[in-house]
Amino acid sequence: MSTTYDVIVIGAGPAGYVCAIRAAQLGLSVACIERYRDAEGQGALGGTCLNVGCVPSKALLDSSHKYAEVVHGLGHHGIAVSGVSCDVPALIRRKNGIVKQLTGGTAMLFKANGVTALFGSGRLLAGRKVEFTDHDGQTSVLEAGHGVLATGSRPIDIPVAPVDGKTIIDSTGALELDAVPKRLGVIGAGVIGLELGSVWRRLGAEVVLMEAMDVFLPIMDQQIAREARKVLTKQGLDIRMSCRVTATEVRRGKVTVTYLAADGAEQKEGFDKLIVCVGRRPVTDNLLAPDSGVNLDERGLVFVDDNCATNAPGVWAIGDVVRGPMLAHKGSEEGVMVAERIAGQQTQMNYGVIPNVIYTDPEIAAVGLTEEQLKQSGEPYKVGTFPFAANARALAADAGAGMVKVLAHADTDRVLGCQVIGPAAAELVQQAAIAMEFGTSAEDLGMMVFAHPTFSEALHEAALAVNGHAIHTASRRARKK
Ligand code: FAD
Ligand code: NAD
Repeated sequence: MSTTYDVIVIGAGPAGYVCAIRAAQLGLSVACIERYRDAEGQGALGGTCLNVGCVPSKALLDSSHKYAEVVHGLGHHGIAVSGVSCDVPALIRRKNGIVKQLTGGTAMLFKANGVTALFGSGRLLAGRKVEFTDHDGQTSVLEAGHGVLATGSRPIDIPVAPVDGKTIIDSTGALELDAVPKRLGVIGAGVIGLELGSVWRRLGAEVVLMEAMDVFLPIMDQQIAREARKVLTKQGLDIRMSCRVTATEVRRGKVTVTYLAADGAEQKEGFDKLIVCVGRRPVTDNLLAPDSGVNLDERGLVFVDDNCATNAPGVWAIGDVVRGPMLAHKGSEEGVMVAERIAGQQTQMNYGVIPNVIYTDPEIAAVGLTEEQLKQSGEPYKVGTFPFAANARALAADAGAGMVKVLAHADTDRVLGCQVIGPAAAELVQQAAIAMEFGTSAEDLGMMVFAHPTFSEALHEAALAVNGHAIHTASRRARKK
């Protein structure tokens, strides 16, 4: 094994592995250190995203969606089905197969690009040296031209609900259940609570979400969040706001949760399983030697500048371990930027245009600024909305709930944000993101030709509505602020 590399990346999640591959493409010698081991004890690349995050959750969302569609969604098409059942272990096996395929694919990409994968733990020492300890406990010291910290994040624990991996579980446990719990409690009605709560609700669990805040999905535009809450509640997600969980008690494989409800009254609820998903925190334990020269910020994130450089020369940090949204694609783009900057290019990243998607049904997606953020900034803006109830493709697909909202600058007409709840919301918002990246105006978007019938036509109409030109809606007046 070589001990000197141009670049050593610690962590092979979507931030680290993408950075490693891009650096190798640029002709640099690269090693990537990863400590994760899969259920068979084998080192696996891909980080949270591929192993216990984006990929397995979306696999379960897809399976559960198909099941719910067959059970509840076909009758009024005139399609009668009976004897439908769900084999949960088979569904979990399918999910595991997809994970294996993708983590194996990443290993192949490393090979093809000449990236050295080192399975074990990395620790940054002074002077861009990295201590590597393999899974057998053998330690060596490697030297790096540049070090990249990409160690990601892990679930936040709360003392009132300690995760035991059996009855009280975190998101990883919620991806591994071998049967549908009759009653499932969820602490935290954020992204994971809604996605994984939806999976088990669709498969038949009674799901109660206990959320501390009084505002539902504060990161989303509140018009969209209100619509989301309505639709998800109709699907049977029991979302309780302003809940302060004060205690949990596990007895004989069941858990009782005590919480103070919005009115201050103490409530008790019994569940078969309880998922704790109250956010994630950066992984930096045992990562930095005291003299590594790298600073953390007040939230424990690695402190970086706009280009992901830490305050130690030649040391960079990317992904969930640094500021910004904890999203796979945000980390990957930072990985590309850092690799290119190491190679001498001046690449920068546009943090203003990072799409964000919640994969419920319908999907909830956003890019750019929300109406609340615009109000707060004092920037003059215009709004155009269009409901899927007036979109032909959505009605044909039984997906008429939700809307597209486009926000544009009142003077320049430049698109500043787009939020969607509805069918293919992730794809629609990505179209808006492309438009925003090129500085498009709402008028430009309105002048483009969209195929008919498509869900995308709702984006077209919302962009037209910004200037009062929507065709398929009775209200033509733009809302200006
Ligand atoms: P990670 O993916 O966490 O990877 C960091 C890696 O570093 C890990 O493999 C870890 O083992 C390794 N590591 C840590 N310390 C060391 C060390 N000292 N030495 C060696 N290795 C180390 N994001 C989305 O964009 N879309 C989604 O749909 C989505 N769904 C999600 C669903 C769930 C259930 C969860 C939990 C997360 C989801 N996310 C999603 C978030 C996404 O997974 C993270 O934002 C992303 O994985 C962060 O990438 P990263 O490379 O920064 O860190
Ligand atoms: P989150 O921040 O989305 O939601 C956590 C929720 O828990 C918040 O609403 C918060 O108010 C609430 N909360 C905090 N403490 C609480 C307490 N003591 N009692 C009750 N509620 C409490 O975090 P998450 O759902 O754990 O997900 C973590 C991160 O992972 C996300 O922020 C996101 O960055 C990433 N993620 C992304 C996706 C996606 O892109 N589709 C999917 C899953 C996760």
